Amino acid sequence: MDKMTLEPHYDDDCIFCKILKGDIPSYTVYEDNIVKAFLDISQGTPGHTLVIPKTHVKDIFAYDSDLAAAVFSRIPRIARAVQASDPAITGMNIVNNNGKVAYQSVFHSHFHLVPRYTDDDDFQMIFKDNSGNYTPDDYAAIQAKIKAHVED
Ligand code: AMP
Ligand code: ZN
Repeated sequence: MDKMTLEPHYDDDCIFCKILKGDIPSYTVYEDNIVKAFLDISQGTPGHTLVIPKTHVKDIFAYDSDLAAAVFSRIPRIARAVQASDPAITGMNIVNNNGKVAYQSVFHSHFHLVPRYTDDDDFQMIFKDNSGNYTPDDYAAIQAKIKAHVED
């Protein structure tokens, strides 16, 4: 476990900060000084778990690299615990929504651990294949725009 210390910052209007403060209950499955993992109330599939940083971070764009390293480093261990909780779990989607358009509804960053059971369980994710509409020049133009914005 790393030695990072976190000075928690809470947002009074944030439901996940209220969970962190103990003002509203949660079914916690794991916590340490950096993250809390608890059952998503929706249980998209059985065992659906959320992992959140123990400080108010709005979305992925607001992380610094130390917090990201600390939070992400916990995810495999929590994912393995969820996986081991039911032999019927055959896979897992890990989903992180950022922005309303990307289906974020709680603006305290969180990672969904969604256990998968069968092809037709209650989780779906659709990536449309648009590759037929892109030329090598189109890819290169997008590549250049993104590369130009990578921070040092
Ligand atoms: P997202 O749409 O990615 O922002 O996900 C927010 C998730 O938070 C949804 O899946 C909700 O079911 C879940 N959620 C909202 N309130 C609670 C709560 N009090 N306890 C547990 N999960 C919650
Ligand atoms: Zn919050």
